[in-house]
Amino acid sequence: MSDRYSQLVNTPVGKIIAKNVGLPQPVQLDRWRPGQPVVAGEVLLGAALGGRLAAPAARVLADARARARTADDEAGKAAKEAKLDASAWDAAAAGEGDRFKALVFDASGIKDSTQLRELWVFFHPTIRRVERSGRVIVLGTPPEECASPKEATAQRALEGFVRSVGKEVRKGATAQLIYVAPGAENQLDSTLRFFLSPRSAYVSGQVVRVAAAEDPPELDWERPLTGKVALVTGASRGIGEAIARTLARDGAHVVGLDVPALASDLERVTREIRGSHLLADITDPDAPAQILDHLESEHEGVDVIVHNAGVTRDKTLGRMDEERWTVLMDINLTAQERIGDALLERDLLRKGGRVVTVSSMSGIAGNAGQTNYATSKAGVIGMVQSMAPVFAEKQATINAVAPGFIETQMTAAMPFATREIGRRLNSLAQGGKPVDVAETIAWFASPASGGINGQVVRVCGQSLLGA
Ligand code: NAD
Repeated sequence: MSDRYSQLVNTPVGKIIAKNVGLPQPVQLDRWRPGQPVVAGEVLLGAALGGRLAAPAARVLADARARARTADDEAGKAAKEAKLDASAWDAAAAGEGDRFKALVFDASGIKDSTQLRELWVFFHPTIRRVERSGRVIVLGTPPEECASPKEATAQRALEGFVRSVGKEVRKGATAQLIYVAPGAENQLDSTLRFFLSPRSAYVSGQVVRVAAAEDPPELDWERPLTGKVALVTGASRGIGEAIARTLARDGAHVVGLDVPALASDLERVTREIRGSHLLADITDPDAPAQILDHLESEHEGVDVIVHNAGVTRDKTLGRMDEERWTVLMDINLTAQERIGDALLERDLLRKGGRVVTVSSMSGIAGNAGQTNYATSKAGVIGMVQSMAPVFAEKQATINAVAPGFIETQMTAAMPFATREIGRRLNSLAQGGKPVDVAETIAWFASPASGGINGQVVRVCGQSLLGA
């Protein structure tokens, strides 16, 4: 769907007018293409004294062949240990033109509130040196795993810092906080790569927790899903189509599912990605058995399930007929639970399996006219959080994405003013693309993401709603 305003303010004349009149100036975001490096520019690594995450971060940067500089002795030591080819960078001696594609700061050494000053020391001279579509990433310890209340307080404070940085950085740059549990240092790769790279173009202001899990396998990072089978519901168009294409690009055999009425669209998509298709209405009482029979007979199981199919049936509560409530709840929530129950009962999710469900910002912030939709989307968050321990026992994971304003047929149908407000009310001042949701799902689905479980990540450009 086209965003004419964005196109206009990105012309030379449009840029001048928007700047002078104080209008939002969305920039064209970098998006990932196969063969691109993880980070197309220099990364500056810094660390508070005594941190435990600079070393694993340096190792990830070395593996990703990133060009790096180090901002202090702690980061310099970590770079040396990780054999990261990095030279020292001194803020006092820096040239005007020194710019960074990413700033990565290990804050895990911060043990009390006085040491939060380390954030200022690292970021004050560097934050205005972040390039277009740049990245700011802070690494910390989950407060609930800290050794003392003072340390937990300081680590919790990082959230406010990162969310504010996300609102300050301009030109399509983003900011995230990654909490890495003690013992989960070897699980950082897939998450740090995702947030450094253009795959996370429309994700900002997020807090992610990485937990200890089985050692991640050796991966071809260009095609991490090679040999995996992924079921995607609602795959014939919109976000579901992008998910199917992205998982296939990453090497998966995709089984696309949609309602019989969309058979020809679904067949076109799955043919183009060399996947297969399954026609079913997920609310049919027989649907779980039909889906699982197919996965068992054709593939002897499944590795990834993406619950994307969903609908809206908007009306304010007093005007909402019962059907709008029950039909929607069945599609958006109950059908997922039924398929999930059957999956566990028949034990068809292979070891290292991944379930990802598509929630919505409405499920977090609420929305007038969407009591039914927001209830269902908050429900899938509840499902993810309550089922995470069950999946963890099987060395599998379950996570959710919560998209904000994504340019699809669903949002194109909104009235003009609502659509324009939805698009601009976020730190990136634009709507996301279906591929942005799909990339986030691909990160959850990666065999290297075993440490990510029970999480909800918003793909909303840091929406001002529900922040
Ligand atoms: P869409 O309407 O373009 O696609 C939804 C797909 O789900 C369709 O192919 C549809 O046929 C399928 N589907 C619906 N009911 C089904 C059923 N009973 N059985 C099988 N398939 C069924 O919508 P979209 O914008 O691509 O949204 C995809 C998901 O993302 C939905 O869950 C939606 O709630 C969520 N979402 C979208 C946005 C957005 O901005 N577009 C924002 C937040 C969340």
